Amino acid sequence: MISETLLAPQDMKQDPVFGQRSFNDHEQVVFCHDKDTGLKAIIGIHNTTLGPALGGTRMWKYFNEWEALNDVLRLSRGMTYKAAITGLNLGGGKAVIIGDAKTQKTPELMKRFGEFVHSLSGKYITAEDVGMETADMDLVREVTPYVTGISEAKGGAGNPSPITAYGVFMGLKAATKFKFGTDSLAGKKVYVQGIGHVGETLVSHLVKEDAEVVIADINEARLHEVSQKYGVHIYHGNDIYAEQMDIYAPCALGATVNDETISKLTAKVIAGAANNQLADEVKHGELLQQRGIAYAPDFLINAGGIINVYAELVNYGKDEIIKKTENIYNTTLDIFTKSVQEGTTTQQAAMQIAEQRILQRKKEMN
Ligand code: NAD
Repeated sequence: MISETLLAPQDMKQDPVFGQRSFNDHEQVVFCHDKDTGLKAIIGIHNTTLGPALGGTRMWKYFNEWEALNDVLRLSRGMTYKAAITGLNLGGGKAVIIGDAKTQKTPELMKRFGEFVHSLSGKYITAEDVGMETADMDLVREVTPYVTGISEAKGGAGNPSPITAYGVFMGLKAATKFKFGTDSLAGKKVYVQGIGHVGETLVSHLVKEDAEVVIADINEARLHEVSQKYGVHIYHGNDIYAEQMDIYAPCALGATVNDETISKLTAKVIAGAANNQLADEVKHGELLQQRGIAYAPDFLINAGGIINVYAELVNYGKDEIIKKTENIYNTTLDIFTKSVQEGTTTQQAAMQIAEQRILQRKKEMN
């Protein structure tokens, strides 16, 4: 079972918001409720120094409200770093809707959520995340302009997932180059965990490069569909982390790199789309480094989606989107070099660059 937040019982004894383990100087946390549509949502705005806080909306069956709050705090902070390291003039934000996207998501609920987004007057701009579709963003667009990732038919940049997958592929290749001395994936055994919107497209890129791909998902129907479409193996065991592999690509939910899994992992490279892959970004970054596992920071390599939706805001075209996404390859290699030179983890090296950019902007503003 993947838990995004690894919520510990002690977290529930802390003060509800400002005392949360994941609270990290967030600027604003907005609780949204609507009885008629059943909407229960939380919008987290982490930092708006570089621009309006942009980040997707996730709809998930959270175990409880603490877990949802923890998730939105962690995810919105991650967006601040993602935008900063990618060189975009955006801040970090995220929203979570508590509920089952398959059974509880209705057009009325999405529009009501959109009204809450609108009430923030552009300080937060939403987009899609897990449990959301481009059509949902079109519904939100009916009530607010503060949404990106709407369909191409409605003038948007469309589904960001293929671009996210392309960026992850670039980051994965760069990490492979760093670890194996070549970025060729031919014959490399890659486990892709989660073959949803991003995972499937990543599989297609990997197959084109003759990687030996194994897929894992909790959705059996999808496993068979993707396996047949790309001729890849399905993982059937119950401990994926102990499998023999060259590359582990987490593309489901976060916190899969933790005390328990690191000790088993045989992979030499970790590069995937999931946000917040390290359960503890300091401790687990260091453990990976000690074990010689090259970790491509998630917020750096999964930035293709934000590049894609940013295009809607600043009006740049497909060529610029591709160029910026391909540059993830170079930035990832630079981060590996910096981490070796400075003796830090790749996570720390990437975070430092992002923080410097924010600090610089703050100085310019004062
Ligand atoms: P998705 O909902 O389309 O796919 C997620 C897949 O993971 C689903 O097929 C689901 O069945 C599977 N899954 C869930 N729990 C699992 C488990 N325990 N084991 C194995 N598989 C499991 O989501 P997505 O849009 O493909 O995003 C995947 C990840 O990438 C998320 O963490 C998301 O936040 C992140 N991400 C996505 C984008 C984007 O553009 N879509 C951008 C940046 C980051």
